[in-house]
Amino acid sequence: MSNNLLTVAYIAASALFILSLGGLSNQETARQGNVFGIVGMVIAFIATAIASVQMSAYGLLGAVILPGAIIGAMVASRVAMTSMPELVAILHSFVGLAAVLVGFANFLNPDTALVGVEATIHQVEVYVGILIGAITFTGSIVAFGKLRGLIASKPLMLPARHFLNLGMVAVILWLGYEFMGGPLLTSLQALLAMTAIAGVLGLHLVLAIGGADMPVVISMLNSYSGWAAAAAGFMLSNDLLIITGALVGSSGAILSYIMCKAMNRSFISVILGGFGAGASQSTGAASQPAGEVNPIQVEEATEILENARSVVIVPGYGMAVAQAQYPISEITKKLRDRGTTVRFGIHPVAGRMPGHMNVLLAEANVPYDIVLEMDEINHDFPATDVVLVVGANDTINSSALEDPNSPIAGMPVMEVWKAKTVIVMKRSMASGYAGVDNPVFYKENTRMLFGDARKNVDAILAQLTTQTLAGSRG
Ligand code: NDP
Repeated sequence: MSNNLLTVAYIAASALFILSLGGLSNQETARQGNVFGIVGMVIAFIATAIASVQMSAYGLLGAVILPGAIIGAMVASRVAMTSMPELVAILHSFVGLAAVLVGFANFLNPDTALVGVEATIHQVEVYVGILIGAITFTGSIVAFGKLRGLIASKPLMLPARHFLNLGMVAVILWLGYEFMGGPLLTSLQALLAMTAIAGVLGLHLVLAIGGADMPVVISMLNSYSGWAAAAAGFMLSNDLLIITGALVGSSGAILSYIMCKAMNRSFISVILGGFGAGASQSTGAASQPAGEVNPIQVEEATEILENARSVVIVPGYGMAVAQAQYPISEITKKLRDRGTTVRFGIHPVAGRMPGHMNVLLAEANVPYDIVLEMDEINHDFPATDVVLVVGANDTINSSALEDPNSPIAGMPVMEVWKAKTVIVMKRSMASGYAGVDNPVFYKENTRMLFGDARKNVDAILAQLTTQTLAGSRG
């Protein structure tokens, strides 16, 4: 493939990636967005790995790519939706590691044609690329460990941790000075030392972030992995990798910012690990909710739903675990057929990844126009007859608004307790991901429907169906 053709292929792939991001911003166009992304990636792969004039080692390439593709396809096809964030986190770590390896390969086998300013710029690219790559690599491994429950989700609060981070950044800057223009051995030593320190910095930054802030970390690491890829693009003089990396890097950063706003967290605080308000609050003792819970059985829950004029369903991580979206979709249909207004309220961090609930509901064919964001539905709760909470906990926790000592104080939540009746479906009184007790369970208008969400939702659906049949016969 000539260089001109390669450029055309790269422009086409870049345009498709941009169209893909545009499509993914809306549920109705998300599938099309995915198709654009896949086609763009196929073009990029063929142009770079197969048709490029620089490529000759096809045997080696095949030996590396084929096993990787097979393992990737197997892992991705087997992964449960609830484990997707873990997979994403570990994949980010690979991008980081790839940037580190590309950086070292570039440094040890430099392009001798580069002299003067160009050579200096190239050295900066190598240093920065390895730095971002190493932080992404270790940070993503910690994120994977936390999401998988291998590492405690509690933030690691080392004394003077911000000074520790600052110290590491200062040493990295000094090593950068040593690296630039020094003799080969000195530069290599500086590069190796910087890689180790950047790795520790990545570990420390993510270990210091607590449970409820993990969603932002995942999207921040997504952003870092984009910048690491862009840096690798600069090192390899590959325009497409630079564009793709920049798209991932900037969209990840924007998503992190939006999520921070949705959780009332300061962007900088989360990145620096519990800095400022979040830290002081999370060390404070939250007051314990008092009172008794009011359990309910399926029959009564069905009756309450049947008598309601307006119902809001608030799903959370438990709906994903129980795979309860399909019967929920059926119940929605049945209630709407009876003339009940049914809507869904989605918290921006419900579940274990951004958009988790929207994907599940779309999968179960819930109409898009009744799925509303938190800001769109929150003011409607006082006028709602019944809220059905399906495996959500942190995202409906009233202590965020009512208890200034709560670790999640200030985080906007779904204000479900303002409805006339709240039915909460979960298996026990266990707390959610953030590990915070929930006063909503003890409120007078709350009824707890204990048990697996799928079993209970199936039972409600069966009752509704029986009654509809009886009604149509009678
Ligand atoms: P939570 O984790 O707060 O609560 C989920 C609840 O579901 C649990 O209390 C659990 O209670 C219940 N549950 C689990 N399995 C079942 C089941 N089979 N049937 C019925 N109930 C079940 O979930 P939310 O969605 O409310 O909040 C999301 C949390 O995850 C937030 O803290 C958020 O910060 C965090 N997070 C979000 C990410 C994102 O990007 N969206 C990424 C990483 C973390 P029980 O055990 O009693 O059944």
